[in-house]
Amino acid sequence: MIIDCHGHYTTAPKSLWDYRDKQVSVFDDPKALAALAEPHISDDQIREGIEGAQLKFQRERGTDLTIFSPRASTMGPHLGSEETSLSWARLCNDLIARICRLYPENFVGVCQLPQSPGVPIEHSIAELERCVNEHGFIGCNLNPDPSGGYWKDPPLTDRWWYPLYEKMVELEVPAMVHVSTSCNPAFHTTGAHYLNADTTAFMQFLTSKLFKDFPTLKFVIPHGGGAVPYHWGRFRGLAQDMKLPPLKELLLDNVFFDTCVYHRPGIELLCKVIPVDNILFASEMVGAVRGIDPETGHNYDDTKRYVDAIEGLSEADKRKIYEGNVRRVYPIDRRSARPAQP
Ligand SMILES: [Zn+2]
Repeated sequence: MIIDCHGHYTTAPKSLWDYRDKQVSVFDDPKALAALAEPHISDDQIREGIEGAQLKFQRERGTDLTIFSPRASTMGPHLGSEETSLSWARLCNDLIARICRLYPENFVGVCQLPQSPGVPIEHSIAELERCVNEHGFIGCNLNPDPSGGYWKDPPLTDRWWYPLYEKMVELEVPAMVHVSTSCNPAFHTTGAHYLNADTTAFMQFLTSKLFKDFPTLKFVIPHGGGAVPYHWGRFRGLAQDMKLPPLKELLLDNVFFDTCVYHRPGIELLCKVIPVDNILFASEMVGAVRGIDPETGHNYDDTKRYVDAIEGLSEADKRKIYEGNVRRVYPIDRRSARPAQP
């Protein structure tokens, strides 16, 4: 089985994004907000979006199951209010649940948390519980910077976040560290902000005692870990200077990396530097980079080709990347036990 641990619902009908634009534009007008009707999205509209893209690519590329969450760039926790963040997260998560029910063999859900800058993380816990207990979701996307590029909330390792971690441990679900769109013009969303956040989260983990407090807490750092594999020597050296244990001992029971790196040399480096037990297959299709690489003739995000092509990686190691490690991090088997109806 080949499990892609990182996919977003980027192919929703336009009415969803139109609704969000309206919601954000009237967020401070309670009357207009109350009058705003959520979009009606039919099963056929869902099928049309999924079958022409995510499902088509699964079939063409030979992957089986995608761990699926709402579109990351439109989470937009810095927009609107705490109230609109909550209703937007619920709406998006409910759509993921519908997709998982329409295609139970192909998708399993991960939720968007209803975060807002400065709002205590406790306020996100009920939605995580709802998604796990009622929808059978197996994780969440945790945004380390709800301010969208200005980093106004404490680092992920601050006790500020601990109530969420306590709940994640209780529910036995991991989080993928995933920012949303950048409203800071210095940072391009997918080209800079995403990769900055991946690198930043890793360094926060390195300098903390978080995993002493939560030995079973698990995070996936997406996009190949940002700059982490390339600068592994720097991180090892920094840890050594700080008299910390080796990184493997310090972090690698808790921190994992996905394979959303869009060229073969990048994935080769990832697999050479990071222990194979900490690498989870992912493509993030259909997402940030949708074009075809003229040098290969294949989609940049067809990451399975790069993993398949790595020389020196045993079949057993590939099985770990494609399935075994994903199962160690995400409670995949819970999807068969999830309720049939919302
Ligand atoms: Zn993503």
